[in-house]
Amino acid sequence: MLLYCHIPYCDSKCHYCSFNSYVGRFESRTRYMEALLEQLPAELERFGASPGSITSLFIGGGTPSTVPAELYTPLFEALAPWLADDAEISSEANPNSASESWLAGMRQLGVNRLSFGVQSFDDEKLRRLGRAHSSAQAIEAIERAAEIGFERLSLDLIYNCAGDDRALLEADLRQALSLPVGHLSAYELTIEEGTPFARTPEVRQENDSLARWMARHVEETGLVQYEISNFGDPCRHNLGYWRHEDYIGLGAGAVGFLRDRRFYPHSDLDVYLDNPLARRIEPLDAEALKTERIFLGLRSRVGIEATLLNSGERERAEILLSEGKLRQEGARYFCTDYFLADGIALFLMD
Ligand code: SF4
Repeated sequence: MLLYCHIPYCDSKCHYCSFNSYVGRFESRTRYMEALLEQLPAELERFGASPGSITSLFIGGGTPSTVPAELYTPLFEALAPWLADDAEISSEANPNSASESWLAGMRQLGVNRLSFGVQSFDDEKLRRLGRAHSSAQAIEAIERAAEIGFERLSLDLIYNCAGDDRALLEADLRQALSLPVGHLSAYELTIEEGTPFARTPEVRQENDSLARWMARHVEETGLVQYEISNFGDPCRHNLGYWRHEDYIGLGAGAVGFLRDRRFYPHSDLDVYLDNPLARRIEPLDAEALKTERIFLGLRSRVGIEATLLNSGERERAEILLSEGKLRQEGARYFCTDYFLADGIALFLMD
């Protein structure tokens, strides 16, 4: 099973971000890490975890690098018996807060994969996105992480901000791939409700051909696309989500999933701190689970089991196979073009 741990702190709020994160609440960090420790045993019990059964731990946010490494120590001590020997232990990090001591401390705790929120190497674009770091800081932080001994590094880029063109993205990719990263995530800018960008939606541009160009260009460098937005050395944690594996969600607003239920701890930081054990439970029916499996499977190299489909859906799958939009390998179907995955899923389930 997987475990996601949410760190809801950021240095500043990026203009496009709707994640559950707080600025100016650092005074509660120690209490928050204690709250995680309160929640953990209840979740391990609920999920029937056995020693060594957690194959992937992902620390996300927010910005995990805003919490000093030493504050993570009790959590890692509590988790140690439950983690598989070869567990993937990932953390997100931002270039301006991933200091040498944070990186060294997290590596010592066992983190073996880091994902940097970079978004662009163009300082003007970073400013428009409201990022708290510069291009130089991003380069420095990633090089520092490699020097400290992290072998699995990833970075995120954003594209289709108004004004993005091939020249800018090519420069971003050239810089990204000159760094010691084996994985890249490239996300299209989306306008989320309640964010500053929701008031100026024109900051996003529609340009499907740029998205396709970007994906092709990344693949040419040898990083294979394994999901719409992800390339290279696959992230075990994300693959687990797309395969519908169970996941524990630890922290404010961190969703958990167990077979046919989702668990929602409160997303408000203060409410969570008061009662880390409170949660809402959402039952999921067979139809909802199937729909999710189809969407997630087709968007990624996970694919879908032929046995998941009813006879009408299999007939439509045959049509898609004949058109080259799906391919079959053994008893699984895979999308041949992840950018078309949602439309194909809708057609299949028509
Ligand atoms: S650093 Fe990440 S989580 Fe924090 S505001 Fe920016 S995008 Fe959101």
